[in-house]
Amino acid sequence: MTQTIPAELAHRVKLVIFDVDGVLTDSGLYVGETADGVDVELKRFDIQDGVGIKMLMWSGLDVVIVSGRVSKATSIRARELGVEECYQEPDAHKLRVVERILDEKGLDWDDVAMIGDDIPDLAVMRRVGLKAAVANATGPIAEIADWTASKRGGHGAAREFTDELLRARGDLADVVERYVAERSGT
Ligand SMILES: [Mg+2]
Repeated sequence: MTQTIPAELAHRVKLVIFDVDGVLTDSGLYVGETADGVDVELKRFDIQDGVGIKMLMWSGLDVVIVSGRVSKATSIRARELGVEECYQEPDAHKLRVVERILDEKGLDWDDVAMIGDDIPDLAVMRRVGLKAAVANATGPIAEIADWTASKRGGHGAAREFTDELLRARGDLADVVERYVAERSGT
């Protein structure tokens, strides 16, 4: 059975928060150093997830990235996606960041959706109106999720979420057709 996001939760959403490690990636890090001794950290992102994030923005939703680690790879990916609000909080102090975002935007917790995978997301996810989990989310996140992807983080979970959120809002077909129409002109 394919799980669906309840329409009443989906329609309230104005802001979507993405965790990075374990949601937009498979949680793995490639670490090493260059011949010059410079530390290197690489992450693998999924292109289809990125299209899904852009689709949310095209539909008029606000998208922010909130990571509990500081990584250049995350900054580069956010920039590529056009996500201007990318917060990287050392030691995963995500709650205070999100409280500030809501304050600045004048939003309530019920206006927010978040997809997460592990306990660094828990303090925020306990408060948001729509809680989404990747298939391989750890226990505390899986237990509170309103919706759980069938796919794992970094392997399509984020796209599954964005497609399902747009479908539940009745926007999915429109966003796809607008995208195609804008690329069908001469
Ligand atoms: Mg994570």
